[in-house]
Amino acid sequence: MEDRTHFGYEEVPASEKARRVRGVFDSVAGRYDVMNDLMSAGLHRLWKRFAVDAVLPRPGMRVLDLAGGTGDLARLFARRVGGAGTVVHTDINLAMLAEGRDKLIDRGFALPTVQCNAEALPFPDRTFDVVSIAFGLRNVTRKEAALAEMRRVLRPGGAAMVLEFSRVAAPLAPAYDWYSFTVLPRLGRLVANDDASYRYLAESIRVHPDQEALKGMMEQAGFDQVEYHNLTAGVVAVHVGRVY
Ligand code: SAM
Repeated sequence: MEDRTHFGYEEVPASEKARRVRGVFDSVAGRYDVMNDLMSAGLHRLWKRFAVDAVLPRPGMRVLDLAGGTGDLARLFARRVGGAGTVVHTDINLAMLAEGRDKLIDRGFALPTVQCNAEALPFPDRTFDVVSIAFGLRNVTRKEAALAEMRRVLRPGGAAMVLEFSRVAAPLAPAYDWYSFTVLPRLGRLVANDDASYRYLAESIRVHPDQEALKGMMEQAGFDQVEYHNLTAGVVAVHVGRVY
């Protein structure tokens, strides 16, 4: 029988998830940035800065950003690695990648852009000093495969960073659930005329591995010294794994 996986709370054949996720991001691409600011009250900008700082990017480094969407991480990394470094901006979805490329160019960054699936990267072993994925792993069908690929393309001494929604501290859970399942879909309908995609967002967060589970998955994928930082009481977590 075919493997099954989660698409939000729905169980779907594994082969169908990528198509369903593509539908979500085709639908939200044009409104993605404004919705991020509204939904997180701008907090996503601080989370992303913290996450980039967590891997200590330095001038000259080679960075790969997976599921890079509208390019926020690629831009932050590009500032840090400078002209001597390289940042490759990638995503599986052409609509998101195009939004990202245009936004990066508007801000003065012409970065190499590659359409690719995080589960099967078109890069040789040991190519990058840093590989990042922000709010992307949740959407990937075979997360173990993506983590193994991140490990494969890292050079010895390199670091992988995963920024993702995680398990919020228990006292905040009722308020967070109300916000996620009542406010978010309404906001989605009002601003992007799309409540379903924002319901998927809330559901996909609930079925994603929590902090300790993701740490274990990264260790299983062969990362050394995996650690994580909770931000905003665990609404999101930044995991960093190293390759020795
Ligand atoms: N990293 C950006 C950010 O933090 O704003 C975008 C995050 S957005 C929530 C998730 C992105 O993951 C989408 O652009 C989507 O196309 C991408 N994505 C989903 N599945 C993917 C896969 N298997 N490989 C690469 N990217 C994927």
